[in-house]
Amino acid sequence: MSSPYTGLDRQFIGGRWVDGTSGKTAPNHNPFDGSLLNEIALASAADLDAAYQAAHKAQRAWRLTGPSERAELFLRVLAILDARKDEIIGWLVKESGSTLLKATVEWGSMRGGTIEAMTLPSRVEGRIMPIDQPGKQSFVFREPLGVIGVISPWNFPLHLSHRSIAPALALGNAVVVKPAEDTPVTGGLLIGKIYEEAGLPAGLLNVVIGDVADIGDPFTLHPVPRLISFTGSTRVGKHIAALAAGGKQLKRVGLELGGNAPIVVLDDADLDLAVRAAAFARFLHNGQICMSGNRIIVTANLYDTFVERFVAHVRGFQTGDPADPQTVIGPLINAKQRDAAVRNITAARDAGFAELLGGEVQGQVVPPHVFAGVPNDSAFAQAEQFAPVAPLIRAADEAEAVALANATEFGLSSAVFTRDTARGMRVARQIEAGMTHVNDISVQDSPFNMFGGEKNSGIGRFNGDWIVNEFTTDHWITVQQIPHDYPF
Ligand code: NAD
Repeated sequence: MSSPYTGLDRQFIGGRWVDGTSGKTAPNHNPFDGSLLNEIALASAADLDAAYQAAHKAQRAWRLTGPSERAELFLRVLAILDARKDEIIGWLVKESGSTLLKATVEWGSMRGGTIEAMTLPSRVEGRIMPIDQPGKQSFVFREPLGVIGVISPWNFPLHLSHRSIAPALALGNAVVVKPAEDTPVTGGLLIGKIYEEAGLPAGLLNVVIGDVADIGDPFTLHPVPRLISFTGSTRVGKHIAALAAGGKQLKRVGLELGGNAPIVVLDDADLDLAVRAAAFARFLHNGQICMSGNRIIVTANLYDTFVERFVAHVRGFQTGDPADPQTVIGPLINAKQRDAAVRNITAARDAGFAELLGGEVQGQVVPPHVFAGVPNDSAFAQAEQFAPVAPLIRAADEAEAVALANATEFGLSSAVFTRDTARGMRVARQIEAGMTHVNDISVQDSPFNMFGGEKNSGIGRFNGDWIVNEFTTDHWITVQQIPHDYPF
Protein backbone atom coordinates (compact mmCIF):
# COMPACT_ATOMS: atom_id res chain seq x y z
CA MET A 1 0.00 0.00 0.00
CA SER A 2 1.29 3.46 -0.87
CA SER A 3 1.10 5.95 1.97
CA PRO A 4 -1.51 8.69 1.45
CA TYR A 5 -0.44 11.86 -0.30
CA THR A 6 0.63 14.74 1.94
CA GLY A 7 1.24 18.41 1.17
CA LEU A 8 -2.11 18.90 -0.55
CA ASP A 9 -2.17 22.46 0.77
CA ARG A 10 0.31 24.02 -1.63
CA GLN A 11 0.48 25.22 -5.20
CA PHE A 12 2.02 22.92 -7.83
CA ILE A 13 4.14 25.14 -10.07
CA GLY A 14 6.99 24.08 -12.33
CA GLY A 15 7.14 20.65 -10.65
CA ARG A 16 7.51 22.12 -7.14
CA TRP A 17 5.03 22.30 -4.25
CA VAL A 18 5.12 25.89 -3.04
CA ASP A 19 3.07 28.27 -0.91
CA GLY A 20 1.06 30.90 -2.76
CA THR A 21 2.40 34.42 -2.30
CA SER A 22 -0.82 36.49 -2.29
CA GLY A 23 -0.73 36.84 1.49
CA LYS A 24 -4.26 35.39 1.65
CA THR A 25 -5.23 31.94 2.90
CA ALA A 26 -8.38 29.91 2.33
CA PRO A 27 -9.73 27.22 4.65
CA ASN A 28 -11.04 24.08 2.92
CA HIS A 29 -14.05 22.62 4.77
CA ASN A 30 -15.93 19.33 4.63
CA PRO A 31 -19.42 20.40 3.42
CA PHE A 32 -21.19 17.79 5.57
CA ASP A 33 -19.70 18.29 9.02
CA GLY A 34 -17.86 21.58 8.55
CA SER A 35 -14.53 20.11 9.68
CA LEU A 36 -11.36 21.81 8.42
CA LEU A 37 -9.57 19.66 5.81
CA ASN A 38 -6.66 22.02 5.18
CA GLU A 39 -5.78 25.67 4.71
CA ILE A 40 -4.10 26.89 1.56
CA ALA A 41 -1.87 29.94 1.07
CA LEU A 42 -3.41 31.38 -2.08
CA ALA A 43 -1.64 32.16 -5.34
CA SER A 44 -0.93 35.66 -6.58
CA ALA A 45 -0.89 36.86 -10.18
CA ALA A 46 2.91 36.42 -10.03
CA ASP A 47 2.46 32.74 -9.07
CA LEU A 48 0.07 32.33 -11.97
CA ASP A 49 2.62 33.88 -14.29
CA ALA A 50 5.28 31.46 -12.98
CA ALA A 51 2.94 28.55 -13.70
CA TYR A 52 2.24 29.71 -17.26
CA GLN A 53 5.95 30.33 -17.92
CA ALA A 54 6.85 26.87 -16.57
CA ALA A 55 4.20 25.29 -18.77
CA HIS A 56 5.39 27.22 -21.82
CA LYS A 57 8.97 26.07 -21.30
CA ALA A 58 8.12 22.43 -20.59
CA GLN A 59 5.79 22.15 -23.58
CA ARG A 60 8.59 22.83 -26.09
CA ALA A 61 10.26 19.51 -25.27
CA TRP A 62 7.04 17.60 -24.59
CA ARG A 63 5.60 18.30 -28.04
CA LEU A 64 8.61 16.49 -29.57
CA THR A 65 8.09 13.26 -27.59
CA GLY A 66 6.81 10.20 -29.45
CA PRO A 67 3.22 9.00 -29.11
CA SER A 68 4.20 5.82 -27.25
CA GLU A 69 6.11 7.76 -24.63
CA ARG A 70 3.07 9.94 -23.99
CA ALA A 71 0.72 6.94 -23.99
CA GLU A 72 2.88 5.18 -21.37
CA LEU A 73 2.37 8.06 -18.96
CA PHE A 74 -1.32 7.17 -18.78
CA LEU A 75 -0.51 3.50 -18.21
CA ARG A 76 1.30 4.57 -15.05
CA VAL A 77 -1.52 6.95 -14.06
CA LEU A 78 -3.97 4.07 -14.42
CA ALA A 79 -1.96 1.88 -12.03
CA ILE A 80 -1.90 4.71 -9.47
CA LEU A 81 -5.65 5.28 -9.78
CA ASP A 82 -6.26 1.60 -9.03
CA ALA A 83 -3.79 1.50 -6.15
CA ARG A 84 -5.18 4.69 -4.60
CA LYS A 85 -8.87 4.15 -5.35
CA ASP A 86 -10.04 4.40 -1.73
CA GLU A 87 -7.89 7.46 -1.02
CA ILE A 88 -9.25 9.29 -4.09
CA ILE A 89 -12.87 8.36 -3.33
CA GLY A 90 -12.31 9.40 0.30
CA TRP A 91 -11.22 12.88 -0.82
CA LEU A 92 -14.29 13.23 -3.09
CA VAL A 93 -16.57 12.33 -0.18
CA LYS A 94 -14.97 14.65 2.34
CA GLU A 95 -14.17 17.61 0.10
CA SER A 96 -17.02 17.68 -2.44
CA GLY A 97 -19.81 16.09 -0.36
CA SER A 98 -20.10 13.23 -2.86
CA THR A 99 -21.98 10.13 -1.78
CA LEU A 100 -19.94 6.93 -2.03
CA LEU A 101 -21.88 6.02 -5.17
CA LYS A 102 -21.19 9.33 -6.90
CA ALA A 103 -17.55 9.39 -5.78
CA THR A 104 -17.03 5.90 -7.18
CA VAL A 105 -18.67 6.90 -10.48
CA GLU A 106 -16.37 9.92 -10.63
CA TRP A 107 -13.24 7.89 -9.90
CA GLY A 108 -14.41 5.58 -12.73
CA SER A 109 -14.77 8.56 -15.08
CA MET A 110 -11.19 9.60 -14.42
CA ARG A 111 -10.09 6.01 -14.97
CA GLY A 112 -12.02 5.79 -18.26
CA GLY A 113 -10.56 9.09 -19.40
CA THR A 114 -7.08 7.81 -18.59
CA ILE A 115 -7.56 4.69 -20.73
CA GLU A 116 -8.89 6.83 -23.58
CA ALA A 117 -5.94 9.23 -23.22
CA MET A 118 -3.56 6.35 -24.04
CA THR A 119 -5.11 6.18 -27.51
CA LEU A 120 -5.03 9.90 -28.27
CA PRO A 121 -1.32 10.44 -29.07
CA SER A 122 -1.51 7.98 -31.98
CA ARG A 123 -4.81 9.37 -33.31
CA VAL A 124 -3.41 12.69 -34.48
CA GLU A 125 -3.42 12.56 -38.28
CA GLY A 126 -2.38 15.13 -40.83
CA ARG A 127 -3.44 15.20 -44.51
CA ILE A 128 -1.71 15.30 -47.87
CA MET A 129 -3.85 17.52 -50.07
CA PRO A 130 -4.24 17.81 -53.85
CA ILE A 131 -3.20 21.20 -55.21
CA ASP A 132 -3.41 22.91 -58.61
CA GLN A 133 0.13 24.32 -58.97
CA PRO A 134 2.52 21.95 -60.78
CA GLY A 135 5.50 20.73 -58.74
CA LYS A 136 3.96 21.69 -55.40
CA GLN A 137 3.28 19.38 -52.46
CA SER A 138 0.63 20.33 -49.91
CA PHE A 139 0.41 19.04 -46.35
CA VAL A 140 -1.82 19.88 -43.41
CA PHE A 141 -0.17 18.97 -40.11
CA ARG A 142 -2.02 18.74 -36.83
CA GLU A 143 0.05 20.28 -34.06
CA PRO A 144 -0.44 20.74 -30.32
CA LEU A 145 -1.92 24.10 -29.37
CA GLY A 146 0.77 24.87 -26.78
CA VAL A 147 -0.42 25.70 -23.26
CA ILE A 148 -4.04 25.12 -22.28
CA GLY A 149 -5.61 26.86 -19.28
CA VAL A 150 -8.23 24.72 -17.51
CA ILE A 151 -10.90 26.16 -15.19
CA SER A 152 -13.21 23.68 -13.49
CA PRO A 153 -16.27 23.65 -11.20
CA TRP A 154 -16.77 21.88 -7.87
CA ASN A 155 -19.52 19.39 -8.73
CA PHE A 156 -17.44 16.71 -10.53
CA PRO A 157 -14.07 18.33 -9.78
CA LEU A 158 -11.78 15.36 -10.40
CA HIS A 159 -13.40 14.30 -13.65
CA LEU A 160 -14.09 17.76 -15.04
CA SER A 161 -10.51 18.93 -14.53
CA HIS A 162 -9.09 15.64 -15.76
CA ARG A 163 -11.23 15.45 -18.91
CA SER A 164 -9.27 18.51 -20.10
CA ILE A 165 -5.89 17.74 -18.49
CA ALA A 166 -5.46 14.19 -19.83
CA PRO A 167 -6.20 14.88 -23.52
CA ALA A 168 -4.24 18.13 -23.38
CA LEU A 169 -1.12 16.27 -22.20
CA ALA A 170 -1.73 13.29 -24.49
CA LEU A 171 -1.82 15.62 -27.49
CA GLY A 172 1.47 17.33 -26.64
CA ASN A 173 0.22 20.37 -24.74
CA ALA A 174 1.07 21.65 -21.26
CA VAL A 175 -1.55 22.68 -18.72
CA VAL A 176 -2.26 25.18 -15.98
CA VAL A 177 -5.39 24.30 -14.02
CA LYS A 178 -7.43 26.48 -11.69
CA PRO A 179 -9.90 24.39 -9.68
CA ALA A 180 -12.98 25.81 -7.98
CA GLU A 181 -12.62 27.41 -4.54
CA ASP A 182 -14.57 24.58 -2.86
CA THR A 183 -12.51 21.74 -4.38
CA PRO A 184 -8.82 22.68 -4.58
CA VAL A 185 -7.69 19.13 -3.79
CA THR A 186 -10.04 17.00 -5.89
CA GLY A 187 -10.16 19.58 -8.70
CA GLY A 188 -6.39 19.93 -9.04
CA LEU A 189 -3.85 19.19 -6.29
CA LEU A 190 -4.67 15.47 -6.08
CA ILE A 191 -4.36 15.21 -9.87
CA GLY A 192 -0.99 16.98 -9.61
CA LYS A 193 0.20 14.39 -7.07
CA ILE A 194 -0.98 11.50 -9.26
CA TYR A 195 0.78 12.79 -12.39
CA GLU A 196 3.92 13.64 -10.42
CA GLU A 197 4.00 10.08 -9.07
CA ALA A 198 3.47 8.81 -12.62
CA GLY A 199 6.65 10.66 -13.68
CA LEU A 200 5.24 13.54 -15.70
CA PRO A 201 8.13 15.95 -16.41
CA ALA A 202 8.12 19.13 -14.30
CA GLY A 203 6.14 22.07 -15.58
CA LEU A 204 3.75 20.18 -17.86
CA LEU A 205 0.95 20.23 -15.29
CA ASN A 206 0.61 23.17 -12.90
CA VAL A 207 -2.14 23.73 -10.33
CA VAL A 208 -2.88 27.22 -9.02
CA ILE A 209 -5.29 27.82 -6.15
CA GLY A 210 -6.24 31.44 -5.79
CA ASP A 211 -8.87 34.06 -5.21
CA VAL A 212 -10.74 34.91 -8.43
CA ALA A 213 -10.25 38.58 -7.51
CA ASP A 214 -6.47 38.07 -7.87
CA ILE A 215 -6.02 35.41 -10.56
CA GLY A 216 -9.46 35.09 -12.23
CA ASP A 217 -9.22 37.49 -15.16
CA PRO A 218 -5.40 37.23 -15.42
CA PHE A 219 -5.86 33.48 -15.96
CA THR A 220 -7.61 34.18 -19.28
CA LEU A 221 -5.81 37.39 -20.21
CA HIS A 222 -2.29 35.93 -19.81
CA PRO A 223 -0.51 35.81 -23.20
CA VAL A 224 0.76 32.20 -22.88
CA PRO A 225 -2.40 30.03 -23.01
CA ARG A 226 -3.75 29.38 -26.50
CA LEU A 227 -7.05 28.00 -25.28
CA ILE A 228 -9.08 28.32 -22.08
CA SER A 229 -10.99 25.11 -21.42
CA PHE A 230 -13.74 26.28 -19.09
CA THR A 231 -16.42 24.23 -17.35
CA GLY A 232 -18.80 26.15 -15.11
CA SER A 233 -21.74 28.52 -15.17
CA THR A 234 -23.04 30.31 -18.26
CA ARG A 235 -22.53 33.67 -16.56
CA VAL A 236 -18.81 33.14 -15.94
CA GLY A 237 -18.36 31.31 -19.27
CA LYS A 238 -19.63 34.33 -21.20
CA HIS A 239 -17.28 36.57 -19.20
CA ILE A 240 -14.31 34.31 -20.07
CA ALA A 241 -15.31 34.33 -23.75
CA ALA A 242 -15.44 38.15 -23.73
CA LEU A 243 -11.98 38.34 -22.09
CA ALA A 244 -10.56 35.82 -24.57
CA ALA A 245 -11.83 37.96 -27.44
CA GLY A 246 -11.04 41.35 -25.95
CA GLY A 247 -7.61 40.84 -24.38
CA LYS A 248 -4.32 41.72 -26.06
CA GLN A 249 -3.81 38.13 -27.22
CA LEU A 250 -6.86 36.60 -28.95
CA LYS A 251 -7.38 33.01 -27.85
CA ARG A 252 -9.72 30.07 -28.24
CA VAL A 253 -12.27 29.02 -25.66
CA GLY A 254 -13.99 25.71 -24.98
CA LEU A 255 -17.10 26.40 -22.91
CA GLU A 256 -19.03 23.66 -21.11
CA LEU A 257 -21.75 25.57 -19.29
CA GLY A 258 -25.06 25.24 -17.51
CA GLY A 259 -27.98 23.03 -18.46
CA ASN A 260 -31.70 22.53 -17.96
CA ALA A 261 -32.19 18.98 -19.20
CA PRO A 262 -35.74 17.90 -20.02
CA ILE A 263 -36.79 14.34 -19.23
CA VAL A 264 -39.61 13.75 -21.72
CA VAL A 265 -41.98 10.90 -20.84
CA LEU A 266 -44.13 10.08 -23.90
CA ASP A 267 -47.59 8.48 -23.73
CA ASP A 268 -46.32 4.94 -24.46
CA ALA A 269 -43.39 4.99 -21.99
CA ASP A 270 -42.58 2.15 -19.61
CA LEU A 271 -43.79 4.02 -16.55
CA ASP A 272 -41.73 2.19 -13.92
CA LEU A 273 -38.56 2.69 -15.94
CA ALA A 274 -39.35 6.37 -16.52
CA VAL A 275 -40.07 7.00 -12.81
CA ARG A 276 -36.85 5.37 -11.62
CA ALA A 277 -34.73 6.96 -14.35
CA ALA A 278 -36.20 10.45 -13.82
CA ALA A 279 -35.56 10.18 -10.08
CA PHE A 280 -31.97 8.99 -10.61
CA ALA A 281 -31.29 11.70 -13.22
CA ARG A 282 -32.78 14.35 -10.94
CA PHE A 283 -31.30 13.37 -7.57
CA LEU A 284 -27.84 11.91 -8.32
CA HIS A 285 -25.36 14.16 -6.48
CA ASN A 286 -28.32 16.13 -5.06
CA GLY A 287 -29.11 17.50 -8.51
CA GLN A 288 -25.74 19.29 -8.74
CA ILE A 289 -24.93 18.07 -12.26
CA CYS A 290 -25.09 20.07 -15.48
CA MET A 291 -26.96 17.15 -17.11
CA SER A 292 -29.38 16.59 -14.19
CA GLY A 293 -33.00 16.02 -15.23
CA ASN A 294 -34.03 19.55 -14.36
CA ARG A 295 -37.56 19.46 -15.87
CA ILE A 296 -39.61 16.28 -15.90
CA ILE A 297 -42.18 16.64 -18.70
CA VAL A 298 -44.88 13.96 -18.74
CA THR A 299 -47.68 13.55 -21.29
CA ALA A 300 -51.21 13.97 -19.96
CA ASN A 301 -52.38 10.31 -20.07
CA LEU A 302 -49.53 9.18 -17.75
CA TYR A 303 -49.13 12.34 -15.70
CA ASP A 304 -51.18 11.57 -12.57
CA THR A 305 -49.85 8.02 -12.19
CA PHE A 306 -46.29 9.20 -12.84
CA VAL A 307 -46.55 11.90 -10.17
CA GLU A 308 -47.91 9.42 -7.61
CA ARG A 309 -45.22 6.79 -8.26
CA PHE A 310 -42.40 9.36 -8.49
CA VAL A 311 -43.24 10.83 -5.08
CA ALA A 312 -43.59 7.35 -3.53
CA HIS A 313 -40.19 6.34 -4.91
CA VAL A 314 -38.33 9.50 -3.86
CA ARG A 315 -39.91 9.53 -0.38
CA GLY A 316 -37.69 6.58 0.55
CA PHE A 317 -34.35 8.28 -0.18
CA GLN A 318 -31.96 8.40 2.76
CA THR A 319 -30.47 11.83 3.45
CA GLY A 320 -27.43 12.79 5.50
CA ASP A 321 -23.84 11.58 5.78
CA PRO A 322 -22.39 11.00 2.28
CA ALA A 323 -19.92 8.47 3.71
CA ASP A 324 -22.82 6.16 4.64
CA PRO A 325 -23.28 3.76 1.68
CA GLN A 326 -27.11 3.98 2.03
CA THR A 327 -27.19 7.78 1.63
CA VAL A 328 -28.73 9.13 -1.58
CA ILE A 329 -28.92 12.83 -0.70
CA GLY A 330 -25.83 14.35 0.94
CA PRO A 331 -24.87 17.97 1.61
CA LEU A 332 -24.92 20.75 -0.98
CA ILE A 333 -21.42 22.06 -1.60
CA ASN A 334 -21.66 25.29 0.41
CA ALA A 335 -23.98 27.59 2.32
CA LYS A 336 -24.46 29.83 -0.75
CA GLN A 337 -25.81 26.95 -2.82
CA ARG A 338 -27.99 25.82 0.10
CA ASP A 339 -29.44 29.34 0.47
CA ALA A 340 -30.12 29.53 -3.29
CA ALA A 341 -31.97 26.19 -3.09
CA VAL A 342 -34.06 27.42 -0.15
CA ARG A 343 -34.91 30.62 -2.04
CA ASN A 344 -36.05 28.61 -5.08
CA ILE A 345 -38.18 26.32 -2.91
CA THR A 346 -39.80 29.31 -1.19
CA ALA A 347 -40.49 30.95 -4.56
CA ALA A 348 -42.13 27.74 -5.81
CA ARG A 349 -44.37 27.66 -2.72
CA ASP A 350 -45.21 31.35 -3.13
CA ALA A 351 -46.11 30.72 -6.77
CA GLY A 352 -48.64 28.14 -5.57
CA PHE A 353 -47.08 25.01 -7.12
CA ALA A 354 -48.13 21.77 -5.40
CA GLU A 355 -45.37 20.72 -2.97
CA LEU A 356 -45.84 16.95 -2.85
CA LEU A 357 -42.62 16.21 -0.99
CA GLY A 358 -40.39 18.42 1.14
CA GLY A 359 -38.78 18.56 4.55
CA GLU A 360 -36.49 20.48 6.84
CA VAL A 361 -33.04 21.61 5.76
CA GLN A 362 -30.33 20.33 8.13
CA GLY A 363 -26.94 22.01 7.84
CA GLN A 364 -26.24 21.88 4.12
CA VAL A 365 -28.45 18.83 3.52
CA VAL A 366 -31.62 19.75 1.63
CA PRO A 367 -34.09 16.83 1.52
CA PRO A 368 -35.63 15.98 -1.86
CA HIS A 369 -38.45 18.31 -2.89
CA VAL A 370 -41.06 17.56 -5.55
CA PHE A 371 -43.37 20.19 -7.06
CA ALA A 372 -46.20 19.24 -9.43
CA GLY A 373 -48.18 21.30 -11.92
CA VAL A 374 -45.24 23.58 -12.66
CA PRO A 375 -45.62 25.73 -15.82
CA ASN A 376 -42.63 25.37 -18.14
CA ASP A 377 -42.37 29.13 -18.58
CA SER A 378 -42.19 29.82 -14.82
CA ALA A 379 -38.93 31.17 -13.42
CA PHE A 380 -38.78 27.98 -11.33
CA ALA A 381 -38.76 25.64 -14.35
CA GLN A 382 -36.45 27.88 -16.35
CA ALA A 383 -33.79 28.01 -13.61
CA GLU A 384 -30.98 25.47 -13.34
CA GLN A 385 -31.85 24.20 -9.84
CA PHE A 386 -28.50 22.57 -8.89
CA ALA A 387 -30.32 21.17 -5.83
CA PRO A 388 -32.53 18.13 -5.04
CA VAL A 389 -35.67 19.86 -6.28
CA ALA A 390 -37.85 18.31 -9.01
CA PRO A 391 -40.36 20.31 -11.08
CA LEU A 392 -42.99 18.06 -12.74
CA ILE A 393 -44.56 19.52 -15.88
CA ARG A 394 -47.64 18.28 -17.76
CA ALA A 395 -47.70 18.21 -21.61
CA ALA A 396 -50.84 17.57 -23.68
CA ASP A 397 -49.12 15.31 -26.21
CA GLU A 398 -45.84 14.56 -28.01
CA ALA A 399 -45.83 17.81 -29.97
CA GLU A 400 -46.30 19.92 -26.86
CA ALA A 401 -43.74 17.86 -24.93
CA VAL A 402 -41.11 18.56 -27.60
CA ALA A 403 -42.01 22.26 -27.71
CA LEU A 404 -41.72 22.52 -23.91
CA ALA A 405 -38.45 20.57 -23.88
CA ASN A 406 -36.98 23.10 -26.32
CA ALA A 407 -38.38 26.17 -24.54
CA THR A 408 -35.22 26.89 -22.53
CA GLU A 409 -32.09 28.98 -23.02
CA PHE A 410 -30.01 25.82 -22.49
CA GLY A 411 -29.27 22.79 -24.69
CA LEU A 412 -26.91 20.38 -22.97
CA SER A 413 -28.46 16.98 -22.31
CA SER A 414 -31.97 15.48 -22.46
CA ALA A 415 -33.85 12.18 -22.35
CA VAL A 416 -36.92 10.68 -24.03
CA PHE A 417 -38.93 7.71 -22.73
CA THR A 418 -41.07 5.61 -25.10
CA ARG A 419 -41.58 1.89 -25.78
CA ASP A 420 -41.23 2.64 -29.53
CA THR A 421 -37.51 3.23 -30.09
CA ALA A 422 -38.05 4.47 -33.68
CA ARG A 423 -40.36 7.13 -32.26
CA GLY A 424 -37.75 7.81 -29.60
CA MET A 425 -35.13 8.48 -32.28
CA ARG A 426 -37.53 10.75 -34.21
CA VAL A 427 -38.35 12.78 -31.10
CA ALA A 428 -34.70 12.85 -29.96
CA ARG A 429 -33.70 14.47 -33.26
CA GLN A 430 -36.22 17.29 -32.66
CA ILE A 431 -34.66 18.23 -29.35
CA GLU A 432 -32.32 21.20 -29.46
CA ALA A 433 -29.51 19.81 -27.34
CA GLY A 434 -26.03 18.45 -27.74
CA MET A 435 -27.03 15.11 -26.20
CA THR A 436 -30.27 13.09 -26.03
CA HIS A 437 -30.67 9.60 -24.57
CA VAL A 438 -33.66 7.40 -25.39
CA ASN A 439 -34.92 5.28 -22.47
CA ASP A 440 -32.05 6.21 -20.18
CA ILE A 441 -31.00 9.07 -17.92
CA SER A 442 -29.77 12.45 -19.15
CA VAL A 443 -26.57 12.11 -17.10
CA GLN A 444 -24.19 10.29 -19.44
CA ASP A 445 -20.52 10.69 -20.31
CA SER A 446 -18.43 8.18 -22.25
CA PRO A 447 -14.75 8.97 -22.85
CA PHE A 448 -14.95 8.09 -26.56
CA ASN A 449 -18.39 9.53 -27.36
CA MET A 450 -19.10 13.16 -28.15
CA PHE A 451 -19.93 15.44 -25.21
CA GLY A 452 -21.07 19.04 -25.49
CA GLY A 453 -23.92 21.52 -25.56
CA GLU A 454 -25.90 23.93 -27.73
CA LYS A 455 -27.34 27.39 -27.04
CA ASN A 456 -26.33 28.81 -23.63
CA SER A 457 -24.86 25.41 -22.65
CA GLY A 458 -21.65 26.21 -24.45
CA ILE A 459 -19.34 25.96 -27.41
CA GLY A 460 -17.02 23.06 -28.07
CA ARG A 461 -16.85 19.31 -27.76
CA PHE A 462 -15.11 16.75 -25.53
CA ASN A 463 -13.90 13.17 -25.84
CA GLY A 464 -12.48 10.94 -28.62
CA ASP A 465 -11.79 12.51 -32.00
CA TRP A 466 -13.71 15.62 -30.94
CA ILE A 467 -11.14 16.52 -28.30
CA VAL A 468 -8.29 15.77 -30.72
CA ASN A 469 -9.75 18.50 -32.94
CA GLU A 470 -10.27 20.90 -30.03
CA PHE A 471 -6.81 20.54 -28.46
CA THR A 472 -4.72 20.59 -31.65
CA THR A 473 -4.51 23.04 -34.51
CA ASP A 474 -3.93 22.80 -38.28
CA HIS A 475 -0.78 23.99 -39.98
CA TRP A 476 -0.80 24.12 -43.81
CA ILE A 477 2.68 23.60 -45.25
CA THR A 478 3.52 23.50 -48.97
CA VAL A 479 6.78 22.59 -50.63
CA GLN A 480 7.45 23.89 -54.16
CA GLN A 481 9.66 21.24 -55.81
CA ILE A 482 9.83 22.86 -59.27
CA PRO A 483 10.56 26.61 -59.21
CA HIS A 484 7.65 28.87 -60.09
CA ASP A 485 7.75 31.39 -62.94
CA TYR A 486 6.35 34.54 -61.25
CA PRO A 487 4.51 37.16 -63.38
CA PHE A 488 6.77 39.97 -62.10
P1 NAD B 1 -18.85 28.96 -11.67
O1 NAD B 1 -18.99 29.46 -13.06
O2 NAD B 1 -19.25 29.83 -10.57
O3 NAD B 1 -17.32 28.58 -11.40
C1 NAD B 1 -16.62 27.74 -12.27
C2 NAD B 1 -15.14 28.06 -12.17
O4 NAD B 1 -14.91 29.36 -12.68
C3 NAD B 1 -14.58 28.05 -10.75
O5 NAD B 1 -13.30 27.46 -10.78
C4 NAD B 1 -14.48 29.53 -10.43
O6 NAD B 1 -13.50 29.82 -9.48
C5 NAD B 1 -14.09 30.07 -11.77
N1 NAD B 1 -14.27 31.50 -12.00
C6 NAD B 1 -15.26 32.32 -11.56
N2 NAD B 1 -15.05 33.57 -12.03
C7 NAD B 1 -13.92 33.53 -12.78
C8 NAD B 1 -13.18 34.50 -13.54
N3 NAD B 1 -13.54 35.77 -13.63
N4 NAD B 1 -12.08 34.09 -14.19
C9 NAD B 1 -11.67 32.82 -14.11
N5 NAD B 1 -12.32 31.87 -13.41
C10 NAD B 1 -13.43 32.22 -12.76
O7 NAD B 1 -19.60 27.56 -11.67
P2 NAD B 1 -19.78 26.54 -10.45
O8 NAD B 1 -20.81 27.09 -9.55
O9 NAD B 1 -18.45 26.16 -9.90
O10 NAD B 1 -20.34 25.25 -11.23
C11 NAD B 1 -21.69 25.06 -11.48
C12 NAD B 1 -22.01 25.39 -12.93
O11 NAD B 1 -21.17 24.63 -13.79
C13 NAD B 1 -23.43 24.99 -13.29
O12 NAD B 1 -24.01 26.01 -14.07
C14 NAD B 1 -23.23 23.72 -14.11
O13 NAD B 1 -24.26 23.43 -15.01
C15 NAD B 1 -21.96 24.00 -14.80
N6 NAD B 1 -21.34 22.74 -15.25
C16 NAD B 1 -21.28 22.46 -16.59
C17 NAD B 1 -20.76 21.26 -17.03
C18 NAD B 1 -20.69 20.91 -18.50
O14 NAD B 1 -19.99 19.98 -18.86
N7 NAD B 1 -21.41 21.62 -19.36
C19 NAD B 1 -20.27 20.34 -16.09
C20 NAD B 1 -20.36 20.66 -14.74
C21 NAD B 1 -20.88 21.87 -14.32
